[in-house]
Amino acid sequence: MFADVIVDIQHEKLDKIFQYRIPERLKDELHPGMEVIIPFGKGNRQIKGYVTSLSETCNYDLSKVKEITDISRNSVAIEARLIALAAWMKEQYGGTMIQALKTVLPIKQKENAKVKKHLRLLLTEEESREKLAFYQKKNQKARARLLEALMEVPVQDYELVTKKLNVTLPVIRALEEQGVLKIESEQVYRNPVKQAKKSQQEIIYTEEQQHVIQGFRQDYLCGTRRTYLLHGVTGSGKTEVYMEMIRTVVGQGRQAIVLIPEIALTYQTVMRFYRCFGDRVSIMNSRLSAGERYDQMMRAKRGGEVDVMIGPRSALFTPFPDLGGLIVIDEEHEPTYKSEQVPRYHAREVAVHRAEVEDASVVLGSATPSMEAMYRARLGEYQLYEMKNRSHMQQMATVYTVDMRKELKNGNRSILSEKLQELIEDRLNAKEQIMLFLNRRGGYSGFISCRECGHVVKCPHCNVSLSVHKGGKMVCHYCGYEQPKVTECPECGSRYIGEFRAGTQQIEDMVKARFPQARVLRMDMDTTKKKDSHEQILSAFANEEADILVGTQMIVKGHDFPKVTLVGALAADMSLYTDDYRSGERTFQLLTQAAGRAGRGDRLGEVVIQTYDPEHYAIEASAAQDYEAFYEKEIRYRSLMGYPPVENLMAVLAACEDEALLEKACKYLKEYILRIKGQAQLNVIGPASPGVDKIKDIYRRVIYVKAPEYRTLVVLKDRMEQYIEINSGFQKMRIQFDFNPMNL
Ligand code: ADP
Ligand code: ZN
Ligand code: ZN
Repeated sequence: MFADVIVDIQHEKLDKIFQYRIPERLKDELHPGMEVIIPFGKGNRQIKGYVTSLSETCNYDLSKVKEITDISRNSVAIEARLIALAAWMKEQYGGTMIQALKTVLPIKQKENAKVKKHLRLLLTEEESREKLAFYQKKNQKARARLLEALMEVPVQDYELVTKKLNVTLPVIRALEEQGVLKIESEQVYRNPVKQAKKSQQEIIYTEEQQHVIQGFRQDYLCGTRRTYLLHGVTGSGKTEVYMEMIRTVVGQGRQAIVLIPEIALTYQTVMRFYRCFGDRVSIMNSRLSAGERYDQMMRAKRGGEVDVMIGPRSALFTPFPDLGGLIVIDEEHEPTYKSEQVPRYHAREVAVHRAEVEDASVVLGSATPSMEAMYRARLGEYQLYEMKNRSHMQQMATVYTVDMRKELKNGNRSILSEKLQELIEDRLNAKEQIMLFLNRRGGYSGFISCRECGHVVKCPHCNVSLSVHKGGKMVCHYCGYEQPKVTECPECGSRYIGEFRAGTQQIEDMVKARFPQARVLRMDMDTTKKKDSHEQILSAFANEEADILVGTQMIVKGHDFPKVTLVGALAADMSLYTDDYRSGERTFQLLTQAAGRAGRGDRLGEVVIQTYDPEHYAIEASAAQDYEAFYEKEIRYRSLMGYPPVENLMAVLAACEDEALLEKACKYLKEYILRIKGQAQLNVIGPASPGVDKIKDIYRRVIYVKAPEYRTLVVLKDRMEQYIEINSGFQKMRIQFDFNPMNL
């Protein structure tokens, strides 16, 4: 017997299969997917590799075939199906087989069980209620919060509690002293929340929810598997629908994977699933230790123990022995579903593929579906369901758009418009909460806009904004076009033209100066550097320890603050002019999400969108909360410019320490593409500098190739990989492929 082995060395050159003889003693044990130790190279160095398949015959000179030394006893075997998935990902997205295997098998090392601390409630229900009333009367919020959590689930993981509920050790000690709880240490089987009480409240589904649930159920029970796109406004009850769908598949003895963006994977969300499925739910997140994650994977793999795996992107590779059920992708439009490491896969595409192979269905859910998902739904590839009404919450918020050009004309130079100031005053008096969100992400490169007429300087060829580079040039990141920085507005001649520079810090200072009575919290890259500070700020705000939360895009994602009745989007158009063809889509999504934050409690919410470009379709559509209108305009633009999802785009990313060499190599690469292109319909753009054109002294360039067919690009990628491998000139360079890129 022989085994095909792929060698665990990060080098494209070795990315091929080597055959090894299987020694007699390992014959019964060895399976595809196992990690093995093998002699390699001239010196027979002992290294690791993965077995990809077994065979009876040998294709090489028998005398030269070496023997496998041993099975790597400390590793997890990859399921054969996941190997096939890895092979598919390598093919679709480029990179090496090893990189693909490492992606589908994120956890390799076994870890020993470790001692964990738990909190156990000691009071009866009656006593608990009394105690809770007492804490509430004394306004001891942290104590009340902890007790409430324990009343729901009487044994809780210590770390989970301290992190998620933001309670400190002194609070826990105080409750321990009062005999409310006990701190226990035990050697545990690492399930993050152990004895969750299953407590299903009967819920009466809305008509819209019923329609989706029944549609899915009918399909599923008669064996139809498909991809569904659930387009439902925030608060329409999508999560309840997912849970009901999961009940259907679990009822048939199958399993489900639920992907939720890490940032939205909050304690509340997790508890909803626990309440529904008890400890047949398993959670994966970056806060778990390697050992905990390993345990979760093993539980899933054993079968019969876990029905539902919840986690971020990587949970997609949960080794359920018999998936066959459902893969849910919540907030399907989130860019975090696209991997930033090779292979740069998109979770949506991989989920659809895995589901096809393993006879499962996929549900994509979003209030603002990605252009990709809606485009496919319109083509009939996905089944579309809509939920247009909130299940029981308030109506959607009222949205005001403020034209900041007029504010300037009326002599208001503040970052806050008159309208917003007025409403803030009103909410502070009413003791309600406010979120001010600066529509900007960290580390972006600036665009140039006119404060008087709103004009933004764009590339004449690509219709994306030009970015300002050091040295005073304005550059297009797609095609490399450049021109000197303007000092006067080309539209109206105004000298008020430049980069918008205000950050969250300035906004915080300004708000404090204007509203000295307000308590202000700030959440941005600076204030969330420390581990868990993100959670702490959010829970402080949830506890009403502040009136106003100022922050960047990170504050608008999926958090539920019932007391927030006003959301201000400052510089709403900022994300419109990132140098990216998806900027309109991102802006629409962010503003719609921000609007969804207001009025989730029992009072109607209001939203103020401040913009220099109120007529832009992304701003207009988000103010009107009109997804259709946005989609129609955006798809026309994508189609006109040949951008995804109408056409396909492949970015060839090249990086090198030597800038001159890099430029030469890019020139060759481009020439090569044009030479082999033949009759293929494709369009080559660049080379250009990507958003950040130099990181840690490594220079970067990018060539874009557009084609109507994805397949054309895959074939091109394969040929380029070969070309790169046989030309020593590329050895000093790192070349990667990115299909339909998201975060350049
Ligand atoms: P989405 O995921 O679409 O934002 P959720 O499923 O989180 O919506 O629902 C929002 C809130 O409304 C949750 O607290 C949920 O429990 C509640 N909810 C959803 N559907 C119903 C219903 N039919 N009846 C009562 N409450 C519901
Ligand atoms: Zn102007
Ligand atoms: Zn351009």
